[in-house]
Amino acid sequence: MTSKTAVVTGAARGIGLATTKLLLERGWKVAMIDRDGPALAEALQGLDGVHGIDCDVSDPEAVEGMIAETLREFGQIDALVNNAGVADFGPIEETSFARWKTVMETNLDGPFLCVQAATPALKATKGAVVNIASISGLRASTLRVAYGTSKAAVIQLTLQQAVELGEHGIRANCVCPGPVRTKLAMAVHSQEIIDAYHDAIPLNRYGSEQEIAEAILFLCSERASFITGQVLAADGGFEATGIGLP
Ligand code: NAD
Repeated sequence: MTSKTAVVTGAARGIGLATTKLLLERGWKVAMIDRDGPALAEALQGLDGVHGIDCDVSDPEAVEGMIAETLREFGQIDALVNNAGVADFGPIEETSFARWKTVMETNLDGPFLCVQAATPALKATKGAVVNIASISGLRASTLRVAYGTSKAAVIQLTLQQAVELGEHGIRANCVCPGPVRTKLAMAVHSQEIIDAYHDAIPLNRYGSEQEIAEAILFLCSERASFITGQVLAADGGFEATGIGLP
């Protein structure tokens, strides 16, 4: 058990909510961050040791305020989980600049802004950053020009953070989930994509939110104290197959 504090973005549902619950089980306190106020209010019900903050991670001022509020509430930040994300699949010619920017703002600007704002607090605790990218950031495909590019950039952002912030004792790692049946995925995965994933993934199934949360928890924890700058695919073996994304 620990008495540490984590900030988890996109915590109102899906992988972020599962991560919050696992951290709480292991004794962490959690600042639950989400821009969906009603979903966040519902997620907070019945959870002890949490503080919810309605915040859009792509808004620099809101992010500064969110980190300040977390510090007022809990006094320290030991881990930052940059999990908030959006998906938008489409061919290059049909991806308007507005759609491209919407994806980049949450998926890439968000993790940059959150790390920047949290760095003084993370220096004080020699804390950990875990960025949630995707196997879509490791492999190119049709339909994922915005989403895949944003996630590939998150992987590089992780390496930058690990190299630059290591001298302060801050670790930065990245989890690349394979497919998980969350609201985000089910909005963009056609039946064709679902069937193709089942065939292609060596474990022949989608992952669960809890399985991704376990990888995140490990990288947040002291058990990963000499691990930084790593990209961990939690994907049922998909990356090992070398085949293209469906
Ligand atoms: P989800 O849609 O279930 O949850 C995402 C949460 O992020 C939502 O509560 C949403 O309100 C919040 N959010 C979105 N934009 C935000 C913003 N700008 N500011 C604050 N909160 C915001 O999705 P999920 O599947 O749990 O996704 C979590 C992360 O995992 C994302 O980064 C996603 O890209 C990544 N991922 C998911 C899958 C998958 O198959 N589900 C695969 C690979 C990677």
